[in-house]
Amino acid sequence: MSTTYAVVDPTTAQPFTEVQHASLEETDAAIEAAHAAFPAWGAVAPAERGRLLRRFAALVDEHLEELARLEVRNAGHTLGNARWEAGNVRDVLTYYSAAPERLLGRQIPVPGGLDVTFHEPLGVVGIIVPWNFPMPIAGWGMAPALAAGNCVVLKPAELTPLTAIRLGELGREAGLPEGVLTVVPGEGPVVGERFVTHPLVRKVAFTGSTAVGKRIMRGCADQVKRVTLELGGKSANIVFADADLEKAAASAPYAVFDNAGQDCCARSRILVQRSVYDEFLGRMEQAVAAMRVTDPTSDEASEMGPLISARQKERVTGYLDGVEVAFAGTAPDTDGFWVPPTVVVPSGTDAPVWREEVFGPVVAVLPFDDEADAVAMANDSDYGLSGSVYTRDLGRALRVARGVDAGNLSVNSHSSVRYWTPFGGFKSSGLGRELGPDAPNAFTEEKNVFFADA
Ligand code: NAD
Repeated sequence: MSTTYAVVDPTTAQPFTEVQHASLEETDAAIEAAHAAFPAWGAVAPAERGRLLRRFAALVDEHLEELARLEVRNAGHTLGNARWEAGNVRDVLTYYSAAPERLLGRQIPVPGGLDVTFHEPLGVVGIIVPWNFPMPIAGWGMAPALAAGNCVVLKPAELTPLTAIRLGELGREAGLPEGVLTVVPGEGPVVGERFVTHPLVRKVAFTGSTAVGKRIMRGCADQVKRVTLELGGKSANIVFADADLEKAAASAPYAVFDNAGQDCCARSRILVQRSVYDEFLGRMEQAVAAMRVTDPTSDEASEMGPLISARQKERVTGYLDGVEVAFAGTAPDTDGFWVPPTVVVPSGTDAPVWREEVFGPVVAVLPFDDEADAVAMANDSDYGLSGSVYTRDLGRALRVARGVDAGNLSVNSHSSVRYWTPFGGFKSSGLGRELGPDAPNAFTEEKNVFFADA
């Protein structure tokens, strides 16, 4: 039997609506309906699959403001961010709408006949989404999976189901046949776990914590089920003395405090060359003091909202116990789950606040001496998702970007995600890549067919 779950507004800590959580039986029914829809969906002509995805993108665009405001309410995102997130779903659907007609196989020279390869869809794909970016992460999974001819069952996070449910409705309205895209709200250990154990689900695309990712990978091993994992991070923002310090210090708060630090790509370790350490911190302090941390449901210009839940607030503030705070910004003094943007100086590189993913508006800063020191400090981490290098020396930028063990480096920028380029982690930050031109292939099996001459 399904159960009712209250959805809370993180700016007030008050519930404002309810959703039905799917039971195990309802999850099985959704998976079986997706399996039943698969043969017909796989047989839809590529151009028609593309047209349906463009129609879906157009509906997301028409409902962009509604989706954005729903996310502001449900996840406490700023309106500017939430508009970007809904726009990202539209753009990703549009980008992959060209993919069905470009799922190119190969003709490979072999003796004795003709050899060709095909990209066959997998069948039913389970997508498990976290609460920090509910819309984009749903889009990054479903758009290439659908483009490649798969049927999708998608589980949003318990805390943030509303935009995913709405996207599922818009997909149906766009003309996706019944069973091709099904949003299944519910609990991780019930719905998510069933995606892992159900034999009709051929792949799990998971984004979330490293602990749950490891569990999912172990579970998938039993059926040699395909799996991609986008997990946590502890990314380094490396600032050299020759950098444009004004620019580096102005962007450093947004590199970590965007989405209240609940960002897997957050540059939550800042490494500053010793000779400019004090100057950089002085400039950053001004930038942090100027950040507009306000209720995003009433202030459209808010730059940072609350954390997602009381539990997350407790977890994040736990990292501040006994740690030297260099400076902090402000936050509203209301019942929401607020933590001000906070810059700390850890006791050393063994401190939990330096090593562990805080997933909140807390950044740790330490000095380094030279290039080798910076790369070694950056790489002294279990994670490897993103990172930034600020310098005017292009040779150094290239050496450091190549030297840091992470999937997404940016030079003189704090951005990590561009849907045209691959995104994913080294080490404990994940397995596989999302986005970019190859993403649909990750939702296919490459089949090789040989035709004998005689
Ligand atoms: P989480 O791992 O607790 O939950 C993620 C999703 O997995 C949720 O939908 C949850 O219901 C589901 N889940 C929980 N237990 C499950 C189980 N046993 N089987 C199957 N599904 C299960 O993570 P979270 O707290 O929602 O998200 C925060 C984490 O996600 C952070 O660590 C963050 O770094 C990571 N993240 C990574 C990326 C990336 O692209 N690398 C992006 C966003 C978030």
